[in-house]
This record gives sequence, structure tokens and C-alpha cells, in this order.
Amino acid sequence: DAVVVAIDGPSGTGKSSTSRAVATELGLRYLDTGAMYRAMTWWMLANQIDPGDPVAVATASGKPVLLSGTDPLAPTISVDGADVSGPIRSEEVTAAVSAVSAVPEVRSRLVELQRAAVAAAASAGGIVVEGRDIGTTVVPDATVKIYLNASPEARAARRNGELTGARAVGVEATREALVRRDAADSGRKVSPLAKAEDAVEIDTTDLTLDQVIEAVVGLVER
Ligand code: C5P
Repeated sequence: DAVVVAIDGPSGTGKSSTSRAVATELGLRYLDTGAMYRAMTWWMLANQIDPGDPVAVATASGKPVLLSGTDPLAPTISVDGADVSGPIRSEEVTAAVSAVSAVPEVRSRLVELQRAAVAAAASAGGIVVEGRDIGTTVVPDATVKIYLNASPEARAARRNGELTGARAVGVEATREALVRRDAADSGRKVSPLAKAEDAVEIDTTDLTLDQVIEAVVGLVER
């Protein structure tokens, strides 16, 4: 049977690095659902739609054509045929993404695409899906559910290490932005960031990436 590994948790816990490595090691496909919410947000900003206007966002949410490549060694995301892997990581997108992803029409559209990707990966053995609501909403019957967590300080330190040059704003500013985004993601009405009842929680604060990967692979192979 196809394996589906759901990996949820707040930002900066190592979700992407862990998910990609686990998928590579187990020969599974990989889907970054955060990249899909970011691509939707990038498109709204590029088309002068105010991310703070939920009615405008809902009305436009069916327009962009989103395509996610599911190779864990080279994940891709395109909007209307153009690769947006770089621009979706901008500060502007990061600041606006929580508002856009709180709009129910955005979520129902993207959840549908996510479930289609999971179904398509079945013939390839399965998939690792990372996000905020995978175990609770997108794939409630996933084979294994993981909830990654870490202290805000550890998460900010990691996230800040990923930003370079002008984008490195200091650990304190990064920590504040992370905490604000997690609060918005946890507080929204439709499928908020949450640990599924049957998810295994791993606190990655004092673990190396290799230790986290090993723990998740162990849970899948059990
Ligand atoms: O994972 P990443 O930090 O790139 O996700 C960006 C944003 O996308 C999150 O802060 C959240 O607002 C939204 N998101 C979501 N549901 C998911 C994945 C991401 O609402 N399953």
C-alpha cells in the first residue's frame, strides 16, 4: 500500500529539510504545501490584490494555475507556467501569507490540489507531505503523522541562519516575525496549525537534523 507521511508544525522546526530527506531515503515523492500558499500569496501581490481583503482574495483564488513538482531532490513550484521558487521566499510574501491562507476559498482550492498530488503519488509508492494541517485535514488517514516542534529561540536561530545578506535581520526580529506568523496560523478559523490527536510529537530543539530524520524514518518503517 502507498505510504503517506504527514509532517506538521510551526516554522523553523526543520520540517522541509526533514521531509525532503525522509522522502529521498524512503524513495517517496515530496509535497511542500507551504510553497503552495506562498505561490497563491505571490500571485495576489503580483496582481495588486490586497492580502488583507478576504473577499477580494476569495474571488481571485480560482485564477492562478498552480503546479507543484514532487521530486524531493528538486522540488518546484510554478504559477501560470512561471517558476516562482525564488520569489515565494521574499519578505513581502512571508508577511502576507498568513492572511491569504486564512481565507476558506484559498484553503479548499489548495487542499483539493494537495489531495490530487497524494493520489497521484500512490503509484510511486507514496509521499511525504509537509504543512500545518496535513494530519488533521488534508490526509487524516495518513500512515504516519509527525508534529515537529522546537523552542521559539531555536526556531529563530535556524531561520535566521537561512537568510543571507540584506535579508538577515537579526535573531530577535526573526523570532518576533515567527511567533506572530505562528499565532496567526494557530488562531485562524479554518484548519489552523494543530497537532493531530494521533500524531507523534518530536521536539527538535536539542536534536541534530540527522537525529530527527532517523526518528521519522524509524516511525515509518515500524
Ligand atoms: O511552511 P511555510 O512556512 O513555507 O508556510 C508558509 C505559510 O503557509 C504558513 O505560515 C501558513 O500561513 C501557510 N500554510 C498553511 N497550511 C499549510 C501550509 C502552510 O496555512 N498546510
